[in-house]
Amino acid sequence: MPPDVEITEAELVERFPYVRMDHDTKHLYRGWLARELRLNRCRDCGFWHHPPKPVCPRCWSSAVEPTPVSGRGSVHLLTWLHQGPPAPDVDYAAGPHPVASVELAEQAGLRFTTTVVDCPRERLEIGLAVELHWIERFGAPFPVFRPAEG
Ligand SMILES: [Zn+2]
Repeated sequence: MPPDVEITEAELVERFPYVRMDHDTKHLYRGWLARELRLNRCRDCGFWHHPPKPVCPRCWSSAVEPTPVSGRGSVHLLTWLHQGPPAPDVDYAAGPHPVASVELAEQAGLRFTTTVVDCPRERLEIGLAVELHWIERFGAPFPVFRPAEG
């Protein structure tokens, strides 16, 4: 992992005022600042889970560790939002905004929900191979997906 941006927990909260930050989720957002998607993985049994919890949901070990994912996956669920809260890169007037739950390559059932960019609407569908990409939202890195190359 690249070194973390050296900021205090108070500064971390200030960088992400729109999320629920606590001791279980803070590692996720520190990863965002380093442009790494770090999901919890159990050191005892290897099981991944998201959203972050303090205990492995499979073996109940508390040895869970934020671990970078490859960023490869495929669209598992897809929703088109026609209205919603304002965001810097979202223009509902230009068309519905996609929200995708992406199943990550690391493990069946390990999913991360965000939007998909750089993809024409007619190409975006369940099963599409995607890769992790980063945009800026509210002045901080924000993980999204785009169609996988090749
Ligand atoms: Zn475990």
